[in-house]
Amino acid sequence: MSGDTPRRVVIVGGGLAGHTAAVTLRAAGYDGGITLLTAEPHPPYDRPPLSKELLAGTVDDTTLPTDLADLDVDLRLRCRALRLRPDAVESTGGAHRHDAVILATGSSPIGLAGASRAVHELRTVEDARRLRAALREADSVAVVGAGWVGNEVATRAAALNLKVTVVDAAPTPLARALPAALGEHLVPWFAAQGIDLRLRTLVDGVDERGVRLTDGGRVDADIVVTGIGARPDTGWLLGSGVPLSPDGAVEADATLRAGPGPVYAAGDIVRWPSRLFGARIRVEHWDHAAASARTAARNLLGHAEPYDPVPYFWSDQLGHRLQYVGHHHGADRLVLRGDPAGEDPWTALWFHGERLRAALAVDDPRGARDARRRIAEPDTRSR
Ligand SMILES: Cc1cc2nc3c(=O)[nH]c(=O)nc-3n(C[C@H](O)[C@H](O)[C@H](O)COP(=O)(O)OP(=O)(O)OC[C@H]3O[C@@H](n4cnc5c(N)ncnc54)[C@H](O)[C@@H]3O)c2cc1C
Repeated sequence: MSGDTPRRVVIVGGGLAGHTAAVTLRAAGYDGGITLLTAEPHPPYDRPPLSKELLAGTVDDTTLPTDLADLDVDLRLRCRALRLRPDAVESTGGAHRHDAVILATGSSPIGLAGASRAVHELRTVEDARRLRAALREADSVAVVGAGWVGNEVATRAAALNLKVTVVDAAPTPLARALPAALGEHLVPWFAAQGIDLRLRTLVDGVDERGVRLTDGGRVDADIVVTGIGARPDTGWLLGSGVPLSPDGAVEADATLRAGPGPVYAAGDIVRWPSRLFGARIRVEHWDHAAASARTAARNLLGHAEPYDPVPYFWSDQLGHRLQYVGHHHGADRLVLRGDPAGEDPWTALWFHGERLRAALAVDDPRGARDARRRIAEPDTRSR
């Protein structure tokens, strides 16, 4: 630790990133004060199981294993940060003096315009429990958005024998994450699970009977779930001096520092300059939330490590395990290994010249592991 180690660190956001930042500070030997502010009424918990095991009913509690009290972390529940000042964070629970701050406020779901009845979103454990209870009572569900979370919800609902319809404006599923040439291979998976997938279909609104479509059609359903993306929860940072993009992301440097003072950012909210991919990138993934928080915490203590991971993401949906590694924007060639129409594992590989940039492995964990290693290889980087 350097001579100007802060005496009090305030971490804002009690998700995986905030939690990991606190654990990392202590693991690195930091013995000053740590305050962790979270707007939620629970200690930090994991979100990926919310749309998987928790909806399926095999898990009810996803609290992260390390007890922060044992680490002498002052955890403030139901405490929403309202303003960042150079010397303190103002919150609904008062002002918290700081010498350094880690920002980790994650994202909130984008709401669906034109809904005249309650729709389900899925971000918190309360959302997941509410949705699980509603699915048990329902016969039919309409899911708006064929993205990662929407497809996982549709998968669980179909497993409960509900009539499931997925509606998306895009021409292929997972359109924000994958090019159409790849997304089109996923289309038959929906029918195989008994799910009615309606692509190129725009929602006009939601009413008591279900979803109204702009073409005059309808999808009648007992419950409506939206999964149309999330936005960084950073409105409270406006005017603080922390650089924010129009999409709400915190713009950090290569060490995840985000501002003139000792302010670092981690998790869903942060965009950083990736040397590996030659671009500024932001990802909303579990692995990155933990890894960026570890780097931010160490750098706050005086290290100057660049953050330059190979992003990794997984999803269990429509009878398949999808694992994505890397960052395919800027790639010039997409190569398929295996047959997407067959039963066996297959992998899509993105190249820029000879260099592997990204891969999507379907039911192929070894393919994902190998690709991740190749993308990170130093000699690959220098090409
Ligand atoms: C249903 C679901 C399924 C997912 N499945 C996968 C998956 O299979 N694989 C994968 O890689 N990723 C998955 N993800 C994404 C992954 O969970 C997120 O990328 C990760 O949770 C981000 O962590 P975070 O700590 O940055 O933010 P969050 O987990 O969003 O935590 C941020 C915390 O900050 C709090 N907060 C916000 N504003 C304030 C404020 N002003 N003051 C105080 N506290 C505040 C929030 O209430 C929240 O508790 C999933 C996400 C969801 C929602």
